Amino acid sequence: MDKAWQEFRKCVFCGFCESSCPTLGETGERGYGPRGRVRVVGLLLNGIYSKKTAEYLYTCLLCYACVPPCPTGVDIPGLVEAGRSILVRMSQKSK
Ligand code: SF4
Ligand code: SF4
Repeated sequence: MDKAWQEFRKCVFCGFCESSCPTLGETGERGYGPRGRVRVVGLLLNGIYSKKTAEYLYTCLLCYACVPPCPTGVDIPGLVEAGRSILVRMSQKSK
């Protein structure tokens, strides 16, 4: 999780990544975009989640279109995958 924390801390929430994201363009809802997903993973790292957390993370295409515009070089798809791993571990614990 250290790597995920490192990536999360690099985000300055500028939103430069948003215009290149196909799923944000399709839905118009920020949770379906890179900045929203980074935020969602940050919440997950703090143990906070909601009903929509999995939907926001599993609808990411891992296409990397959001990465080049990011001024601080956040590995957004990598963070999404880290978030998905947290969700899997949480679901295994609850069984
Ligand atoms: S462009 Fe990078 S720093 Fe800016 S909100 Fe997106 S992920 Fe965060
Ligand atoms: S990797 Fe995910 S968040 Fe980034 S542009 Fe593609 S669909 Fe959007």
